[in-house]
Amino acid sequence: MSTVLEDVLAANAAYANGFDKGDLPMPPGRHFAILTCMDARLDPAKYAGLAEGDAHVIRNAGGRASDDAIRSLVISYKLLGTREWFVIHHTNCGMETFTDEIMRDLLASSLNTATVDATGWHDSGQGPGSAEGRYIDWLTIKDNARSVVEDVTRIRNHPLVPGAIPIYGYIYDVTTGKLVEVPEASAVGRSR
Ligand SMILES: [Zn+2]
Repeated sequence: MSTVLEDVLAANAAYANGFDKGDLPMPPGRHFAILTCMDARLDPAKYAGLAEGDAHVIRNAGGRASDDAIRSLVISYKLLGTREWFVIHHTNCGMETFTDEIMRDLLASSLNTATVDATGWHDSGQGPGSAEGRYIDWLTIKDNARSVVEDVTRIRNHPLVPGAIPIYGYIYDVTTGKLVEVPEASAVGRSR
């Protein structure tokens, strides 16, 4: 068995051993949702003070308002009653380090893990790769305040999102653990 698998199963056995949350209702008790990045340095339960049952946390690369993230947010309010949403991107996001073109070329070259140095991303070139990457919009980020504004704007203007839900835009600083508001995003996301 891989060490990771062993460790995860051991941690889960310990968690389940003291488990006393078996009676929680499905709808989030604090009626809010967070859309944020999958970055391993971000722990929304800790940075936003969540316990089991409190809130929805939707994560993807970049915390972007992709069609699938919006699918989850719509379910979150329509069926499970959330009333306030956060879009939280972060400093030093990996999504700032590449473009669609770079990602597509890396994948076309091989499916091995790429390496990065001061001159950018490099592929081993030990293919085969795949051209499928050309059909995916990787939703990369050039400027993370801008990406928060863009994503809050997209969610705010989505026909399936009611105007009454405020959408707050923040950047999590990975060096301090602090959430820093993006005022332009929160202004766009204001309820109406
Ligand atoms: Zn990130």
